[in-house]
Amino acid sequence: MGVTEEFEGGDGTYTVRSDIYAARTGKVVVDKKRRKISIKPSSRIPPEIKKNDIVVGMITNVRDTMALMEIAAIKGYGEGEINKTGIAAIHISNISENYVKNIANELGASDIVKAKVIDTDNMRLSTAGKELGVISAMCPRCGTVMQKDDNRLKCPACGNVERRKISSDYGSGKI
Ligand code: ZN
Repeated sequence: MGVTEEFEGGDGTYTVRSDIYAARTGKVVVDKKRRKISIKPSSRIPPEIKKNDIVVGMITNVRDTMALMEIAAIKGYGEGEINKTGIAAIHISNISENYVKNIANELGASDIVKAKVIDTDNMRLSTAGKELGVISAMCPRCGTVMQKDDNRLKCPACGNVERRKISSDYGSGKI
């Protein structure tokens, strides 16, 4: 990229003997005034999912004792800024602060859910808490996006009513 007699290696570079090398892919930025070569990252480094992170994703499968969710985003990062993170599990005991008898009354396939990471080894999530739970759901009968109606979801097209563990941010569009 350059030699150190002329330039100093900046962000994203490393220097071996007197040569400056790129340490990451990205746009090369040459600051002639300060004689500095830097590389702006072409993409942000995907963040690791940590315990207590708030994540958003789609429910892919609802079983007797757990629901599976495909994680799509971490709170604090933009869409598409994380790598595909795979499937996480929400166990029936972690859905609500209250006792849950039937998981089908709390989460449904294709629901968009906001959840907290409680275990990264087995990728387990919790939706217990006011702001956690379903943030968007489609009517299973007609496919229309359902609206919050007190503590239920109601389809504005066909009138179908569904029970869910609803997040206080349902329909707000924010994570
Ligand atoms: Zn409907």
